[in-house]
Amino acid sequence: MCGFYGAIGSNPNVCHEVYEALVCLQHRGQDSAGIVSYDHRFHLKKGNGLVRDIFRAKNMERLTGTWGIGQVRYPTFGGATTEDAQPFQVHYPYGIAMAHNGNVTNAEILTEWLRREKRTIMNSSCDIELILATFAAELGEIGGVDPDPESVFKAIEKVLHRVKGAYSVISLVAQLGMVAFRDPHGIRPLLMGKRTAADGTVEWACASENIALEILGYSDIENIGPGEAVIFRPGEDPLRRKVFSIRHNPCIFEHVYFARPDSIIDNVSVYEARRNFGIQLAKKWQKSGFHADVVIPVPDSACTSASTMARELGIEYREGLVKNRYIGRTFIMPGQGERTSSVRRKLNAIESEFKGKDVLLVDDSIVRGNTSRQIVELARAAGAKMVYFASCSPPVRHPCVYGVDMSTRAELIANETSEVEIAKKLGADAVIYQEISDLRLAVANSGSDLHYCAACFDGNYPTADVSAETLSNIEEARLQDHRQRLSIEADKVGEPG
Ligand code: SF4
Repeated sequence: MCGFYGAIGSNPNVCHEVYEALVCLQHRGQDSAGIVSYDHRFHLKKGNGLVRDIFRAKNMERLTGTWGIGQVRYPTFGGATTEDAQPFQVHYPYGIAMAHNGNVTNAEILTEWLRREKRTIMNSSCDIELILATFAAELGEIGGVDPDPESVFKAIEKVLHRVKGAYSVISLVAQLGMVAFRDPHGIRPLLMGKRTAADGTVEWACASENIALEILGYSDIENIGPGEAVIFRPGEDPLRRKVFSIRHNPCIFEHVYFARPDSIIDNVSVYEARRNFGIQLAKKWQKSGFHADVVIPVPDSACTSASTMARELGIEYREGLVKNRYIGRTFIMPGQGERTSSVRRKLNAIESEFKGKDVLLVDDSIVRGNTSRQIVELARAAGAKMVYFASCSPPVRHPCVYGVDMSTRAELIANETSEVEIAKKLGADAVIYQEISDLRLAVANSGSDLHYCAACFDGNYPTADVSAETLSNIEEARLQDHRQRLSIEADKVGEPG
């Protein structure tokens, strides 16, 4: 999962605006970040780490222009290398800069097609390079010297047919404008907004979450739909076209974990959805017959659900786990080594909230179980009598192939395991999970009739290309990638200091 932002208007310091937006979207990726601006030439700065650590005053001075896009990255594949940081750009056959959020499921086929048919080789393990190369190749066939909006729409249509998986894309095409599009299932979010500058110019921006647009003063915020493409040109109304859509299957996990609670994704409030998760989970807990003295959330994504659950149950809600906010989100840290060590550094227990009590811990999800096990250990060490672990989402039994690093089946703690076994592995007295029907109801309660992707829970992948064979191939590629990362980490350990 990644986050991006793009703006086009009259702001001569668009890079500052993109920077602000990326800080706003930092929760979506902490591995690398980058900004490209355009003023008849592209200017690029990208690097590894947090937004605040990458851009210095001297970089910002160089990023001139009134068009700009930026991205924060969380890798599904590939390590923390600058080669994989986004945006990417090409200068032939046109100047194009591009960034995305998502994951391509037919990367191997595309790589081979680009090599054989277009004499283009890939230089990174980042999917945006594939999408960009495909778009550039398709546009090159029909765009002439200066591609017009019609040829851009046609090229995007070809991209949407050729590139499988989940992807929302933001792009700058030299001399043409800013272009945004979303895969035919609309799995990853994409929104646009409008703002009037002091000089009267109407400005446009796109983002992965509405909060980035709101904070930067944009209004009339709306979704770009599945399979829709939008071209933004200076001084003109945007050109919108439904290019090739199949069915809207947005990611339900955005509501569980990824998005900020103040965001609205595909017209559904994340905060409302999380409150509903708490209401449904409270009903399940009541049926379990277990007793708890206190409900303690695992900060931050579970806080809204946990407080709602506590209120529904009439049990004390206590913030017994304190989080160090200066350490990144553990789920999106690339290597298990980094995940394991950072949990203990990130969370600490307030002993008085645990000592001698039956504790109900509430978290958004249990993926590999390593973080949850360490949290249970913390609760026990702080003196809890009984430790129950509630998950706002159902057991994660299937890998995500659409851009969330939910590993391989073998790494998922709920893979072919019963709830009793999972509790044993976590060291908890019991675990309770949200039912998949309740999860869907919780987002439907929020006024939505979307056909959510919940494949990591139920194994129903919305894109037709995900067969048992593709899953095995993707898992094998991930295992290789993990092995590579481990050997890089081992090399680093062996390096002289
Ligand atoms: Fe989201 Fe899960 Fe679907 Fe991946 S498989 S897109 S995480 S709901």
